[in-house]
Amino acid sequence: MTNKIIITIDGWSSCGKSTLAKQLAKALGYVYIDSGAMYRAITLYFLRNHIDWTDNKDVTQALDNIHLHFEYNEKSAQSEIFLNDENVEYVIRDLVVAEKVSDVAAIRAVRTCAVAQQQKMGAKKGIVMDGRDIGTTVFPDAELKIFMTAAISVRVDRRFKEMIEKNPNITIEEVKANLEMRDHIDSHREVSPLRQAEDAILLDNTNIDMMEQLDIALKLVAKAL
Ligand code: C5P
Repeated sequence: MTNKIIITIDGWSSCGKSTLAKQLAKALGYVYIDSGAMYRAITLYFLRNHIDWTDNKDVTQALDNIHLHFEYNEKSAQSEIFLNDENVEYVIRDLVVAEKVSDVAAIRAVRTCAVAQQQKMGAKKGIVMDGRDIGTTVFPDAELKIFMTAAISVRVDRRFKEMIEKNPNITIEEVKANLEMRDHIDSHREVSPLRQAEDAILLDNTNIDMMEQLDIALKLVAKAL
């Protein structure tokens, strides 16, 4: 396929954005970038280094010392994120990071830094990126924008099943509280709040499975091309 486009997938926490983004990237031979992993990796750095993120100077200095890159892992068949050359793809999924990531992602300097890197990654097109502000701020001119949603009960169940594998002590109440808190902060922050871009197509996957979801998305890609 010669005519490559940019596909953005935004939406609420745990509504299957990364699943769809990975499926699409694989089907189209595109690069998949998980922008949430970048905010999670920055949060991990802040937590490990006891950065006071209410202090602009501390944040700016810390950001200067953070180098993020993605590497494709043949085994897991996905791009994994590296924080200063350490693979942090799995550790950033911990609840400790999830509890703070939305506060860190609301900081203007953090977003400016992450968005600039994301825009560079999409310069050659042929990319699927998921997040909260990809269709509104990162790639406002993307050829295809999808905004995903699903019932909260379905989202909580999905995330709980994912997290219990790594952390058997986690409760469904903790998972639900975390999703609701992140959705609230993400959609109410001053800088690039989560919202559906005017030209984004709404995809509610409460009652459809992964294959149906991919089928719908591939039809949208065909139209956009
Ligand atoms: O996608 P994921 O749930 O891993 O994202 C973690 C958090 O990173 C979100 O809850 C949100 O606070 C932040 N985020 C963001 N903008 C993006 C992607 C993620 O603010 N484009």
